[in-house]
Amino acid sequence: MAIKADSADELFPSLSKNLPSDEEVEITIIGPGYGESIILNIPGVGVGIIDSCQSRINDTNYVLPLEYLKYLYPDLDKISFLLLTHPHKDHYLGLDSILQYYRGNVQRVCWYAGHGTVELKKYLARERIAGYDKLEGFIPVLKAMEKAVAEGATGKKLTELTNVVMPTKVYTKNFGWVDTSILALSPSFDSERKYTEALFNSIAKTGEISVPIRDSALNRISVVLLIHFGQIKIVLGGDLEVELDEKIGWKRIYTCDEIPSINANIFKVSHHGSENGFYEPIWEELTKTHNTVGLIAPFDRTIEGLPTVEQIKVYQEVCDTIYITSSINNTDKLHRYYKKRIADQLRRDSSTWTVIDDGSAEVGYIRIWIKPDGEVSKIERSSNSIKL
Ligand SMILES: [Zn+2]
Repeated sequence: MAIKADSADELFPSLSKNLPSDEEVEITIIGPGYGESIILNIPGVGVGIIDSCQSRINDTNYVLPLEYLKYLYPDLDKISFLLLTHPHKDHYLGLDSILQYYRGNVQRVCWYAGHGTVELKKYLARERIAGYDKLEGFIPVLKAMEKAVAEGATGKKLTELTNVVMPTKVYTKNFGWVDTSILALSPSFDSERKYTEALFNSIAKTGEISVPIRDSALNRISVVLLIHFGQIKIVLGGDLEVELDEKIGWKRIYTCDEIPSINANIFKVSHHGSENGFYEPIWEELTKTHNTVGLIAPFDRTIEGLPTVEQIKVYQEVCDTIYITSSINNTDKLHRYYKKRIADQLRRDSSTWTVIDDGSAEVGYIRIWIKPDGEVSKIERSSNSIKL
């Protein structure tokens, strides 16, 4: 069955055009199986985009947060902030198109602290010469972000305890004055230092072979955000992982006295629900105080996929309700796996091969509205999403 996706109607067939009231926070997480993007609409702050992802349908790439916003907020004339948590392809694809579409109207462009743009570009060039394309399409994103800043957007390199938006008070009819802020809780000083070291070490000297930087080294500098609006606390865990070093990753967030408590109502689970993204002490604390809702964007590019069945069980124990944006299609996953393995064996490029699709263009998403007192007033989700 051929896919027809001429508009957001087909990408988001169950998305209602209703909008939250002017005192509700709206959070939408988009996760089609590969990629993750979060769209926030906060009264008094406006619309913010955290990471981006795409769906490729009939040779056309659809930038999903952009399609979502064009459909729901066609008259939107300003983006409060656009943010990249870390330089992984499943988080940055399409950010350049968003900046192009809202050119001149993005107030803040934020990304993780942690390099040496010059070193990173050097690294990417070497990687390409060596035949790797792990960070394919990243340079246009980096350039688009730098260009937006050059054209007047406020540029922010986020590190532990940096404000994305300065704390402010918003007046609401039913709840009076409400405090709001968006604070980055990571990367820590040591995470940034270790990442930069790894980056430098991976730049091959003349005559040496370039070794790509490890995926976990890129997750090390992932931004984690704490969003605060009245009684609402939302934590967006990025792809941050647990490491041995106490000054790095989730252990740092847990042990640093200066970092506020992250007893959130809503928790975007880290790193697609992987075992490495789970730090038990934090969840133990969460379950004591809140009926936390967990949100997971899965990752379907490995044979088993993320989250694994075992890890889902762990999250079910510590979390009141969990939503996974889309089901992981095993047939499709296996198909891709074998395709890649055969291509590797034949040493051929598999990018032009056809994958048989299941006929649906529907993009997995969860959309939540919350009042300043923490009451969830609406949850809307795609038909392929899962509630646990
Ligand atoms: Zn990721």
